[in-house]
Amino acid sequence: MPDVIIIGGGVIGLCSAYYLNQNGYDVTVIDKTDMLDGCSYGNAGYVCPSHFVPLASPGVVRQGLKWMTSSKSPFYVQPSLNMNLLKWGYHFVKSCTKAHVASSAIPLRDIALLGIKLYEELNSQEGFNFYFEKKGMLEFFKTEKTMHHEKEMVAKAKWLGIDAKLLDKKEAAEMEPGIDVDILGGIYYSCDAHLNPNELMHCLISFLKKNNVRFVTNEEVTNFMTDGKTLKGVKTRSSEYTADHFVLASGSWSGELASKLDLRIPLVGGRGYSITLENSGFEINHPIILTESRVALTPLGENKIRIGGTMEITSTNTPPKIGRVKTILESVKKYIPAFDFPLPSLDKIWYGYRPCSADGLPYIGRVRKYENLIIASGHSMVGLSLGAATGKLVSEVVNNEPASINIDPFSPDRFN
Ligand SMILES: Cc1cc2nc3c(=O)[nH]c(=O)nc-3n(C[C@H](O)[C@H](O)[C@H](O)COP(=O)(O)OP(=O)(O)OC[C@H]3O[C@@H](n4cnc5c(N)ncnc54)[C@H](O)[C@@H]3O)c2cc1C
Repeated sequence: MPDVIIIGGGVIGLCSAYYLNQNGYDVTVIDKTDMLDGCSYGNAGYVCPSHFVPLASPGVVRQGLKWMTSSKSPFYVQPSLNMNLLKWGYHFVKSCTKAHVASSAIPLRDIALLGIKLYEELNSQEGFNFYFEKKGMLEFFKTEKTMHHEKEMVAKAKWLGIDAKLLDKKEAAEMEPGIDVDILGGIYYSCDAHLNPNELMHCLISFLKKNNVRFVTNEEVTNFMTDGKTLKGVKTRSSEYTADHFVLASGSWSGELASKLDLRIPLVGGRGYSITLENSGFEINHPIILTESRVALTPLGENKIRIGGTMEITSTNTPPKIGRVKTILESVKKYIPAFDFPLPSLDKIWYGYRPCSADGLPYIGRVRKYENLIIASGHSMVGLSLGAATGKLVSEVVNNEPASINIDPFSPDRFN
């Protein structure tokens, strides 16, 4: 019997497996897929302390309602009477306050700074060699309205001790001499890093396999075995697996799975798309967010550029809307006119579901109801960024050690 079963082999599950394995635990990871193409692969690869504002913030609901009427908007909530979505929406709207943004900034900053440090350490270990660059991140904007908002963001970042600089058009353009830009200005966050998520995931899997972590793939956990306050095991369609500790790291499916244990973890999938240009003929130096369009560009080494965006709150069974990728490409052209790429064929378009918690903070920690269950999910737009830190925190919780940072704000019981 393994010491720990981790349900879900995305970046959160694998980083948890890594730190638990390093702490001497016998670990099994169970995943319902072959683990080769989930949300943790095609994302933009930002490791970003600059993202200290949670998804649930003032103005998002009003803006979201406006955007819902347009098929070209970067944010969309599929109208539905699904109870999970309605409950999530209720908590989400309640969380969109200034007070929530203020109280989330320090926890989000601290976990992201821990994450960057751990990714650097991880990549210097034997067996890890993923593309990782720590040269900061740019945000480009086009309108006066955004500029006023960005000035406030720079002031908030500085207050948090995060280095941020407002750039005029000339300064922003000088940061990216390989492209001509049509923008009003930008922000430069020097603290951010970026990495190739596909390479990170492959390194993690091969390292864990070499270090005796067991993988059970293409088996879906469908239910649990319990005895009072103790979780005894998990059931798949073909087997049952027992362990001493369990980590629920099932991404966008975590809420649904937790409900089988009568736990309320409000969570929905936020679908996003990306394409990776192998030989674009352009070179960018930094990850760049095109602010008004909510599109992210990432240089991934060897002439590769990834372009990603869109947040569709929708069921994971709804077919992808490929037209949204056309919108993403059109919006890139507004900022970088020479970026004129045709819509790629379907097989070149990637999409994944961000596990969106109801308040934009991840769920990390034990639940009151089961003494040996740890939740690690709901990382929304920053799951890659917070992957290593979450893994480390999970191992500390399992090990009953003091956590590296305060994890109270991430309590999975906060909506119970
Ligand atoms: C377009 C896009 C761009 C993004 N860019 C960034 C970025 O730049 N930086 C950043 O930090 N984040 C980014 N994200 C978000 C990030 O990708 C996610 O937050 C992160 O990948 C979530 O990781 P996870 O391990 O929680 O979930 P997943 O990667 O979804 O892994 C969950 C795993 O659980 C498995 N599973 C689910 N249910 C079961 C079950 N019942 N039994 C067994 N297995 C199960 C699934 O098969 C899956 O493999 C982006 C996302 C998108 C879509």
